[in-house]
Amino acid sequence: MPKLPATSIASQDYLEQIFHLIELKGYARSVDIAANLGVSQASVSAMLKRLGADGLVIYEKYRGVILTPQGSDLAQYIIKRHEVLTRLLRHFGLDEETIYRDVEGMEHHISAETLKAFILLANELDQNPTLQKALKKKARHK
Ligand code: MN
Repeated sequence: MPKLPATSIASQDYLEQIFHLIELKGYARSVDIAANLGVSQASVSAMLKRLGADGLVIYEKYRGVILTPQGSDLAQYIIKRHEVLTRLLRHFGLDEETIYRDVEGMEHHISAETLKAFILLANELDQNPTLQKALKKKARHK
């Protein structure tokens, strides 16, 4: 995974949502971004201007946004990071809501080095059904 350039937590959440909306509809409208993130349309407009100035999205005020190649690379990194953390936590038999909430917090604070370690661990676990069973069993009897 490439190293993440310096971006704020909020801008990472926006890029994540924009990528999902584009995947779904081909473009991301402000109203949908606002709904998905639970923020006001004014906040969305302000953030889109900033992401546009950073060269991550192309923003047309009354239409919607698309990601630039750089924005798309960054969004894919953010989404892959989310997926790896989710895959790892699922090995402990936690409920999906807890996993989602924790991943949404953890993903913004984990270093590239620790993420690399977690990818190794998730991959090892994926290939070790015996350990998977043992972990789930122990996690239930805490
Ligand atoms: Mn996420």
